[in-house]
Amino acid sequence: MVKATSRFITPVEGHYRKPIPGDPSGRLFDQLSGLYHRKNKSIAIFEYVMDEDLPFRVIKNSRAPGALRHELGHALDRALEGWSDQNAFQRAYNLDIAAIDDVTLIDEYAYYLTRKGRSELFAELFAVLQGGGADEKAGNIKRVFPAAVEALQALLEKKT
Ligand SMILES: [Zn+2]
Repeated sequence: MVKATSRFITPVEGHYRKPIPGDPSGRLFDQLSGLYHRKNKSIAIFEYVMDEDLPFRVIKNSRAPGALRHELGHALDRALEGWSDQNAFQRAYNLDIAAIDDVTLIDEYAYYLTRKGRSELFAELFAVLQGGGADEKAGNIKRVFPAAVEALQALLEKKT
């Protein structure tokens, strides 16, 4: 039997108020809704998070379902030996980002344009296609990355 000892689950022990490396939005570790651990192949979804707006308060994680789908996307990507790094998705991703010429979009989708952007896009698109993503600010993600959506749908519909 699993027994909860605390209702407050720490995202990453010892990382409170510390920025997430490579996150252009400046989010902190205690604002994460969930994460996927590559090493031990596990997913953590946090019941409570620190509010992103001032004053910083501990709030219920309203993004938990989307975060779970997003982290499952990372798990699938790793199970497929980094499918987001392979040719089909890489080509689609490059095509989509080359077509982004609107400065507002560059700003809104900056998270998906970083070094980890392609794997983050894979995870978020997977979540969106499965019922809803974790990133509330990326409402038009399917429209902004149409080639990546097509590549991922082709993967998910592949019958082997
Ligand atoms: Zn992610």
